[in-house]
Amino acid sequence: MRQAMDTLFEAHGASVLAVAGSDALFPVHRVYCVGRNYAAHAREMGATEKEAPFFFSKPPDAPTQAAAVAYPPATSELHHEVELVVALGRGGRAIAETDALEHVYGYAVGVDLTRRDLQAAAKREGRPWDVAKGFDESAPISEIHPVAEVGHPTRGVIDLNVNGDLRQRGELADMIWPVAAIIAALSRYFLLCPGDLVFTGTPEGVGPLAVGDEVHCRVEGVGAHRFRMVAPR
Ligand code: MN
Repeated sequence: MRQAMDTLFEAHGASVLAVAGSDALFPVHRVYCVGRNYAAHAREMGATEKEAPFFFSKPPDAPTQAAAVAYPPATSELHHEVELVVALGRGGRAIAETDALEHVYGYAVGVDLTRRDLQAAAKREGRPWDVAKGFDESAPISEIHPVAEVGHPTRGVIDLNVNGDLRQRGELADMIWPVAAIIAALSRYFLLCPGDLVFTGTPEGVGPLAVGDEVHCRVEGVGAHRFRMVAPR
């Protein structure tokens, strides 16, 4: 087996996340995201007919639990999208929906930060979404809350406040694909692994963030997270 000293420089690691009520750490493998998983948000994004949700991804070092998140360069329209995040503790391929929840280690609340201006341009031009979705610090996330503590949430309020003003408020029960269906669908495309995170989509009310904004987000029965937008690094 090759040793670390064989590498040209230190390998860049994926994010490693704190687990609530424990010294254990959750090492991230990949970050998958679901698009348009709440009908009201799909409508505010311009969907006119019912369509199935879809997947995109962020890099494994995008999740951050830091209290300060840098406003990214090259955008003038950074949007918040609050989401329930699934943290996998077991992997697999072609996972049956009936077995899917056994693969979940825990849940978190996260924000799918989005350069909306670049996403709109990518949609217009039929180009990939990477620069709109997969940038540095693009996935602020709470501690991981183990299933042993919070169970498998299927209903409850999901909301996001900016400087104390309510911007997004949704209900988990309104997800088009519930968590088990998402895991089953993803596992038809990818070998899922322990450490995978899945952002499960955002309810309506997405909107802009500015430097200095204090963001507080919460999923009822799971947890909460707070961060501040700071000047570009
Ligand atoms: Mn999203």
